[in-house]
Amino acid sequence: MSESLKKCEACDETFSWNDEVVLVNDEVYHKDCVSLYPTGYFAMLDGEPLGETENDDGSSAYEVMHEGEYEEESA
Ligand SMILES: [Zn+2]
Repeated sequence: MSESLKKCEACDETFSWNDEVVLVNDEVYHKDCVSLYPTGYFAMLDGEPLGETENDDGSSAYEVMHEGEYEEESA
């Protein structure tokens, strides 16, 4: 199998030419591998739009960032 074949970031399977896919932040996913929402949430900071987000409930920092990118809990 060619190394140049792009793989779905979600299931690690390659794509067929007629697979339905979505592009998210320059990564390709099968459409069936992700949950799509017709409209996202739009984050605003001091009246300036930051961008769309799907984290309407918010995520814990450790879930979305790597170690060292957030403050550790002081035990
Ligand atoms: Zn997939």
